[in-house]
Amino acid sequence: MINLQISDVSNTTSRRLFSYLKPYKIGFVCAMLGMVGYALVDVGFISMLQPFIDEGIEGKDTEFLKYAPLFIIVMFLFRGASHFIATYCLSWVGANIVKDLRQELFEHLMRLPVSFHDQNSTGDLISKVTYSTEQLKQATSKALIVLIREGAFVIGLLALMFWNSWQLSLIFLVIAPLIAVIVGFVSKRFRKISNNIQTAMGLVTTCSEQMLNGHKVILSFGGQKVEKSRFAEVNNMTRQQDVKLESAKAMSTGVVQLIASFALAFVIYMASQPAMLDSLTAGTFTLIASSMVMLLRPLKQLTTVNGDFQRGMAAAKSIFEILDQLPEQDTGTRELKRISGHIRFDHVDFSYPGHEDKQVLQDISFEVLPGQTVALVGRSGSGKTTISSLLPRFYEIEKGRILLDDSSIKNFTLASLRQQMAIVSQHVTLFNDTIANNIMYGLDEPVSDAHLLDVAEKAHVMEFARQMQDGLNTIIGENGVSLSGGQRQRIAIARALLRQAPILILDEATSALDTESERKIQGALDELLKGRTNIVIAHRLSTIENADQILVMDQGRIIERGDHASLLAQDGAYAQLYKMQFGQKPV
Ligand code: ADP
Ligand code: MG
Repeated sequence: MINLQISDVSNTTSRRLFSYLKPYKIGFVCAMLGMVGYALVDVGFISMLQPFIDEGIEGKDTEFLKYAPLFIIVMFLFRGASHFIATYCLSWVGANIVKDLRQELFEHLMRLPVSFHDQNSTGDLISKVTYSTEQLKQATSKALIVLIREGAFVIGLLALMFWNSWQLSLIFLVIAPLIAVIVGFVSKRFRKISNNIQTAMGLVTTCSEQMLNGHKVILSFGGQKVEKSRFAEVNNMTRQQDVKLESAKAMSTGVVQLIASFALAFVIYMASQPAMLDSLTAGTFTLIASSMVMLLRPLKQLTTVNGDFQRGMAAAKSIFEILDQLPEQDTGTRELKRISGHIRFDHVDFSYPGHEDKQVLQDISFEVLPGQTVALVGRSGSGKTTISSLLPRFYEIEKGRILLDDSSIKNFTLASLRQQMAIVSQHVTLFNDTIANNIMYGLDEPVSDAHLLDVAEKAHVMEFARQMQDGLNTIIGENGVSLSGGQRQRIAIARALLRQAPILILDEATSALDTESERKIQGALDELLKGRTNIVIAHRLSTIENADQILVMDQGRIIERGDHASLLAQDGAYAQLYKMQFGQKPV
């Protein structure tokens, strides 16, 4: 019966999960021994019923009875020790496996390409790291305890019964297959419900995360009702599945116990037959009857263990699905040393993975010489940010080439390629750390205080850091919630300044600054641009007038190119844009 259950679910997932057990084999074996020991003590107890009644009570053997109390205490000592060993070892193994899986998952998520993260919700992924791994441990260790401990108990009880009266025990040959069929049937249902629970849990976290991230928007747009009902729906979904699982469990338990009760009734009926009655002692009868009653508990647990096991397997499967996602293809072999910064896009076509029907970039060709600045302008959605994220290979292009110092960027290792660039974008990501550490983020070598201070001064970070209690050592909270958009961008600019990368990408880096502070840090930006190759995307044309080359983008194409003066002279799209921004002012 037990073997049948295992083979039913021994798919690739459980085999793969098993491989995580390998380093902790010893602990697992100890846990198994403890569990089997525990079961054996229980069987031992019941086996003593027969001599206790027949020899002790019926035979009035006081010598035998004298040892009974001692026997009880010794057995319980052994039972307690077994229980402790089993529990300790199993939780040691389980906790280690969860730790390993979590770490692997975390590292793998970090290695996955940007396109994967574009297409998967953060909440769902977080629930994999936190909930699914925990679920896996809980479910599988519970399943293991039942399978091994209760399994051994059942086998021991059956052996005991056959040993004492094989005639009465024959009934088990009939009911065992029956029970096996039922268990097989319910386990299919368990599996389906378990998968639904995983999905529902992912939705719950996604929904919560959305609410927490968008809290302000919800408040200001009065979205409470929508969010409330959205959450109520997914919340209710988990409840439904939970209840379904529990009811499937209870139903199958009831049926299995009913079948077992037939066996019990049959045994008592048989025992009452005159032929049987002669050969049965009171002790043997008590032993068989109590064994059968004792069987009910493990039978119930063994029937429902599949529910737990399937829940664990569903969790494991969802974790493995992520681990099976291909990480970023880092096939380049050349380590980039410091480059001169010659960038060339050569007939590049691109569409985002998963959105292949929509071509975002079409036939993009341009060249930036070392030390030059190219500016991208155009309506929002025209593909400017996309161009800037192709250079660090956040996405792979389908057609054309991108060359850096006359070599395709595919030839370089990702790490060394990205080291050549500093990116300041519209959405600044800050870590829950001090301002200083946020500025120095990702640097291999420590920076001297004087240098850091100099950079912070240039980026006008000191202007607001000075007013804070701990200056640059002020902790700024998760994603810098305590800072204004402009302050955040100044930190990002300082970060880029410190990096000394030969290529600089500014993607609307000053969009969160008002004109006043933008003018102030224009100095910092000029400093930043000096001596590098720059790609500048700006919403304010005034910041790009000095660019060596301006590319005007529209719907994924470059429709005009040239410097400020020649583009104005052309009187095309650029001139239009320019007039729109400075319509009021005399040009
Ligand atoms: P810009 O920076 O010029 O405002 P983008 O380069 O951000 O424009 O976007 C260009 C087009 O690509 C837009 O139509 C946008 O909808 C689409 N797009 C941008 N990012 C993604 C993404 N991660 N997945 C799918 N489509 C995207
Ligand atoms: Mg953009």
